[in-house]
Amino acid sequence: MSATPTSPRPASPAPASPSPDCVDVRDIGHALCAATRRLKAAGVEQPRREARLLLGHALGLSPTALLADPVRPLSAAEAAGFEALVARRAGREPLSRIFGRREFWGLEFRLSSETLDPRPDSETLVEAALARVPDRRLPLRVLDLGTGSGCLLLAVLSELPNATGLGLDCAPGALATAAANAAALGLETRARMHRADWTVPDWTAGLGRFDLILTNPPYVETTAQLAPEVAEHDPAPALFAGPDGLAAYRALLPSLPDLLAGGACALVEIGAGQADAVAALARSAALSETDRVADLSGTPRCLVLEAQKTIGM
Ligand code: GLN
Repeated sequence: MSATPTSPRPASPAPASPSPDCVDVRDIGHALCAATRRLKAAGVEQPRREARLLLGHALGLSPTALLADPVRPLSAAEAAGFEALVARRAGREPLSRIFGRREFWGLEFRLSSETLDPRPDSETLVEAALARVPDRRLPLRVLDLGTGSGCLLLAVLSELPNATGLGLDCAPGALATAAANAAALGLETRARMHRADWTVPDWTAGLGRFDLILTNPPYVETTAQLAPEVAEHDPAPALFAGPDGLAAYRALLPSLPDLLAGGACALVEIGAGQADAVAALARSAALSETDRVADLSGTPRCLVLEAQKTIGM
């Protein structure tokens, strides 16, 4: 007797095909499906892509290898390791913090709790700095104020083979991470990292003058609503700069004329909507704005500042 559509289903063993809710992680395909659903529910914007990156990390496989073998089984240990990573991301810890590293300017940077997670927007400063170097073989002196992971300084030094640089930060943990990044990139003989605090008087004493100055200071308003990835994982001192987000510029800009060599420029990262306010602070600090550079989204992201020329001398 053949079954009709209305006859009750006989009891059967568990189906061999994927369960519709994709909750098990028996193989790559199922694991990706389950993780994507979980990350999506947690509000992660690109859940499938991030699930793939996390699984690749857990299994030590490239994205291509994952795609090529969706039925490769996961061992219990691999499944547990992957679950732990997915749980962290579902808790809105950024991938870069989970992996402990971030790519910036095509280079790999280690992160620590005292370093900001470098943003692609900050590559605008590297590009703008290099565009102002007439000859990349010059032995330029480069200064990075608030170096964090060292990303700005080390990216620029990686392009200028005879340049030397100094990265300053008030956070000892950041300086240790920046020094480790310099070493990992083979730049330790040309990059020094030192502790400095631009809120104390005479903090520039003995530093000398520089051919290029880079800075990505804190510029977020203390009341700003930030994504959990930022608010809970970037260090607050690297983000916040008072109620109007301008406190670091007020502290820092007046010292730049003492640090700039003749004809040198400073590249200063700014937040969205801050260009005019920071340019005004620069003018009152005896600096002139020679350019304003937008990031890839068209937002002004970098002011190029020079010491004001004294007229009539
Ligand atoms: N660009 C970072 C952000 O908007 C802030 C970094 C900073 O304050 N310098 O999240």
